[in-house]
Amino acid sequence: YNPERIRNFSIIAHIDHGKSTLADRILESTETVAARDMTEQLLDNMDIERERGITIKLQAARVLYKSKKDGQVYTLNLCDTPGHVDFSYEVSRSLAACEGALLVVDASQGIEAQTLANVYLALENDLEIIPVLNKIDLPAAEPDRVAQEIEETIGLDCSDIVHASAKAGIGIDDILESIVRKIPPPQANVDKPFRALIFDSYYDSYRGVVVFFRVVDGEVNKGDKLRFMASGAEHEVTEVGVMTPKQVQVDKLRAGEVGYICGGIKDVLDARVGDTMILAKAYKEGKASGNEIEPLPGYADSIPMVYAGVFPVDADDYETLRDSLGKLRLNDASLSYEPETSGAMGFGFRCGFLGLLHMEIINERLSREYGLDLIMTAPSVVYKVNKNGEEFVIDAPSKMPDVTRDHQTMEPYVRMEILTPSEYNGAIIELGQERRGILIDIKYLTPTRSTIVYELPLGEVITDFFDQLKSRTKGYASMEYSILEYRESDLVRLDIKINYELAPALACVVHRDNAQSVGRRLVKSLKNLIPRQMFKVPIQACIGAKVVASESISAMRKDVLAKCYGGDITRKKKLLQKQAKGKAKMKAIGKVNVPQEAFMAVLKLE
Ligand code: GDP
Ligand code: MG
Repeated sequence: YNPERIRNFSIIAHIDHGKSTLADRILESTETVAARDMTEQLLDNMDIERERGITIKLQAARVLYKSKKDGQVYTLNLCDTPGHVDFSYEVSRSLAACEGALLVVDASQGIEAQTLANVYLALENDLEIIPVLNKIDLPAAEPDRVAQEIEETIGLDCSDIVHASAKAGIGIDDILESIVRKIPPPQANVDKPFRALIFDSYYDSYRGVVVFFRVVDGEVNKGDKLRFMASGAEHEVTEVGVMTPKQVQVDKLRAGEVGYICGGIKDVLDARVGDTMILAKAYKEGKASGNEIEPLPGYADSIPMVYAGVFPVDADDYETLRDSLGKLRLNDASLSYEPETSGAMGFGFRCGFLGLLHMEIINERLSREYGLDLIMTAPSVVYKVNKNGEEFVIDAPSKMPDVTRDHQTMEPYVRMEILTPSEYNGAIIELGQERRGILIDIKYLTPTRSTIVYELPLGEVITDFFDQLKSRTKGYASMEYSILEYRESDLVRLDIKINYELAPALACVVHRDNAQSVGRRLVKSLKNLIPRQMFKVPIQACIGAKVVASESISAMRKDVLAKCYGGDITRKKKLLQKQAKGKAKMKAIGKVNVPQEAFMAVLKLE
């Protein structure tokens, strides 16, 4: 143990710029992982991560590196961070566990919105930032232009910037060497009382919760009894270890080191990301003497930003759904859920998510890992209503009261930063205005690239904002946002009636000025998404008792199958199969079967 030879670092990048590939290459080139054990993207464990090529949960690994310059062996602790805005809280925690960061920039793309957002986070944590130009093997790479961009926009010295290709294994030694040279060793004091920052945790069915942490002061030994300061839980350490990235037990971990512990912890809520661990004994003594140990800065509960209803297609699956949510929550403390009953939808749950990607992931895991057929309602943000000085939280559009004069309605706003080639500035400002945005700033980063800052209602962002941004800029713009605060808006509840029956699961909350236009587009879209029935089906959008838009689906002709009788048997089979498949993802509202797509219609209005 020599803290002078420890380097704790993380890798930050815009999505797809090569962070995970570089992490893999570092493990490989330091022979941390034998080449034959190398599955592609080793640090991305979950199936969904590998398939989508994104990092959802951060992972950590300890790497031993023998410097080719001074011949010394260094312990490098690497944290791979999630690359999506939904999980930026986890990024900031893992950065707090490091002294430095590799900033990976795709040399064929340049700086993107997440590059900047991550740099801001790294600077807030006082990290030494080492820029790396990745993908220099690509013919389209422009290392000089991108190096200049980094120098001008971020102010990092790029005179000796590493040119690398994580894919082709170019520049990896230079990267390792600059980690050793440029990132400072941890300021470690083993004589102080033990304090450690939790940057990740997950549930293991054999050992209970496994907690990843960075020791800030003192040391922790097997057998110690720990206290988790934010949750107040206490547990005895049954296992201490390091990640190589396989978990390997050690006797103790000391200041500056990164590792894991287990202690038969049954609930991830006991050991949340950002919490501080200290010794239970020291806690008690501190309490008695009035000399309490300060928690490390940074703990904050993750707050669900969007909510959606989740209902089993088959009512018999309700128990399975409840058990499955319980199991997922063991691993994911940011998932919240509570039972919800809705006339037409039956028994289900109202779930809270960090964002849309988080929601999609949970939905996918429920159907993939637990075999559930589910109907999800459109996600909505959490609104607040103030009535005579009393505040109510509204987590479902159908719960929004009929607004009267003594109601004040509020919605969350975000600060959105968009990076784009300047030729698309006009198109982006048009989009921002359509989505009730307030233009805050436009800056030219370079003569051809701009950054545009908007303040927008989150509710306008969680619909198809990202898709629209991409399609209006031919895919060139990138965006990143952070939550600001609640602001007053003139909001109303838009109800949907199908065949004169109220469908609360289809209700949405909109700005009063847009109510009519949203209503019109929504009923039109529902008309196209709901299959014809044997009878005519009127679809109406209403505010209170007032109908603001309506359409109707004409009755189906009775002879759909009749045409096939005796004839083409495969075609008939196909038709029936199609019907059966459709059935799996439908909910009956009154006498009308409504497919999953219709519940999401409000997200993608023409
Ligand atoms: P992350 O989202 O930042 O973790 O990016 P990944 O490591 O998943 O890489 C995104 C894509 O870029 C993958 O298809 C990689 O194979 C590819 N990639 C990564 N590094 C390089 C590189 O140096 N050169 C080339 N040509 N492709 C790369
Ligand atoms: Mg990745």
